[in-house]
Amino acid sequence: QTVLVTGASGFIALHIVEKLLKEGNFKIRGTVRDVNNKEKCKPIYDLVKDPKYPIELVHADLGEDKGWKEAVEGVDLVLHTASPFFFADPEKSEEELIRPAVDGTKRVMEACAAEGSKVQRCIVTSSLASIMGCEKPEGHIFTEKDWSDPEQCDGYRLSKTLAEKTAWDFVKSNKGHTFELATINPSMVIGPVRGRPGTSVNMVKAMMKGEKPQMVGIGFVDVREVAEAHVKALTMPEAVGERFMLSADNLLMKDAAEWIKEVYESKGYGPFDYINEMEGDRKKIPKLADGSKVTTVMDVKYHDLKQSVLDTCESLIQNGLVK
Ligand code: NDP
Repeated sequence: QTVLVTGASGFIALHIVEKLLKEGNFKIRGTVRDVNNKEKCKPIYDLVKDPKYPIELVHADLGEDKGWKEAVEGVDLVLHTASPFFFADPEKSEEELIRPAVDGTKRVMEACAAEGSKVQRCIVTSSLASIMGCEKPEGHIFTEKDWSDPEQCDGYRLSKTLAEKTAWDFVKSNKGHTFELATINPSMVIGPVRGRPGTSVNMVKAMMKGEKPQMVGIGFVDVREVAEAHVKALTMPEAVGERFMLSADNLLMKDAAEWIKEVYESKGYGPFDYINEMEGDRKKIPKLADGSKVTTVMDVKYHDLKQSVLDTCESLIQNGLVK
């Protein structure tokens, strides 16, 4: 069987591809925006030495029609991870975040459903952003049953909410196709970097460089669990038609900064003076998201987040991404 991974050069996708290559059960095709971009493609080829099936890279852009039908040709299973993930200027968020996320998801769905396609299942990488963007009474613990309200969201959050809705609506409304859908909805993802650091890892990088993070603390998860859930969702019968939220725990940036300081200050990173200005008491932050379904249904076990933070730092150093 052949698996297509869209956005194969991304932080999360690199872990998914690595896992698939190591398991050696599937042929893999990946989409990238530019097959000649060495900086982005080399980390993909470097993931596993002499894999059983070498990965094939093809061009496809979420903003263009061309390329998607060809990308899906001969493919049995799709992992749609590609989506813009950065903090955009509010005036440009429609053009830079929402349109590529939503139209791109529609293009992938249409290619999966097109005549001649043999795609059986598509797993879409959604987000906690599609779950938590709605008002709930105090003390509410978010689960996969919750949906963000587009009226209460903007920017990245809106892009993920609308993109995920597009996928579910497509599967519900298009009677001609036969493929199954599941979504993986991670909270903020950290963990070892295989190529470039994405937006979430850049927060850890900033803290190592002595910069105060903008965020106080929300749900976090390790990229290794996110990759495991994607790969398991490809074949598990129980995954069909389901959303899987991944959140190991709340992570206070203040705690993360203290863990980083403990290990890396003596190695020349920091300064960590900003910790004194940081707010937050771990014990006072209520649990916001229940990420247990992925453990119950898929047997995915979460890393301890302290380990994830330190593994993130170590990989940034090893890859020369922080000096
Ligand atoms: P990255 O920025 O590392 O990866 C995003 C991927 O999407 C890249 O491969 C990028 O390609 C691709 N992409 C972006 N825009 C386009 C476009 N217009 N056309 C084609 N490809 C495009 O982020 P992550 O790995 O962190 O994110 C992967 C997925 O996980 C996204 O769907 C994101 O929303 C979701 N997610 C991430 C979380 C996190 O904390 N990291 C949390 C929850 C969900 P290129 O390399 O060319 O830029």
